[in-house]
Amino acid sequence: MYIICDFDGTTAVNDVGNLLFRTFADKRCYEIVDRWKAGEINSKECLLAECEISTASKEQLLAFSDTQKLDADFAAFVEYCKKLNIPVSIASDGLDFYINRIVAKHGLINEVPVFANSLKFTGNETFTAEFPFWGHSCGECGNCKGYHVRKAQESGFSPVVYIGDGLSDRCGAKAADIVFAKRDRDLIRYCQKYEIDFHEYENFSDILSFFKNKLIH
Ligand SMILES: [Mg+2]
Ligand SMILES: [Zn+2]
Repeated sequence: MYIICDFDGTTAVNDVGNLLFRTFADKRCYEIVDRWKAGEINSKECLLAECEISTASKEQLLAFSDTQKLDADFAAFVEYCKKLNIPVSIASDGLDFYINRIVAKHGLINEVPVFANSLKFTGNETFTAEFPFWGHSCGECGNCKGYHVRKAQESGFSPVVYIGDGLSDRCGAKAADIVFAKRDRDLIRYCQKYEIDFHEYENFSDILSFFKNKLIH
């Protein structure tokens, strides 16, 4: 078994990426996200456009990141998986800067590898995004989670479990053997529409219970 978790709104309580741009970009960020949701631009274009209209120093972004929390039971879930030798990683179409900071703050940086797009400062208060996994993208995602799922499968892991909540999780859910989709979020509606089997969850406490009771005895 191998487990891949989305970050924003899944591992982290909030959609930190969205909140970051709502905090440090101007209000055009709402329109940019709407265009991505409508399929008019891909997530790489979305992220680049959001970075372009943002103003924040490294210190401001660190302070902002430090206000963000992981799901209360994520660490317990990682601990449980570790005991069973099940690898857990985070695949995000957001930015490594805040993910690494928040994961480190929770003491998990050496436990959970993070695969994400990369924030690069271009000046004291300006930054852009780079896309180390773009070469493996479906063309719609900056960092396609489907690639990370298939990579684990091709390495011989079975089943590969994908845990997510939103539209950036579509490719991950399509490719995974087992899907967990968060209650009342876009990923559930996508799974229903395309008849992808999923387990509904509210938080990692639910997922941990599910693993203990159903998946691993
Ligand atoms: Mg998400
Ligand atoms: Zn994709």
